[in-house]
Amino acid sequence: MTNDFLLAGLIPLHVLHHAVDEEIYGQGMLEELRQHGYRIGPGTLYPLLHRMEERGYLKAHEVRSGKTMRRYYRATGKGRRALEAVKPQIGELFSEIVHGH
Ligand SMILES: [Zn+2]
Repeated sequence: MTNDFLLAGLIPLHVLHHAVDEEIYGQGMLEELRQHGYRIGPGTLYPLLHRMEERGYLKAHEVRSGKTMRRYYRATGKGRRALEAVKPQIGELFSEIVHGH
């Protein structure tokens, strides 16, 4: 019994939050999310990053390191504005759930 289903909705917000602050990449984001108690694998996160890129929230660029290409993501202007736009709902939900009002 896990809470993956409920937590799944928070992952795009968490990803976007970090991508506004810094460049992110899949493996680093997986480790970050796991530290926060999310049970998530690459099969869930990588398609999510691609969808967020398709929707224009993230922009990717690839950097070769040795034989592997690492795909880095950064929030776009649209991504930044979208996160700002949903902050009131996030704040109110947090307040309701955590503080009961
Ligand atoms: Zn985080």
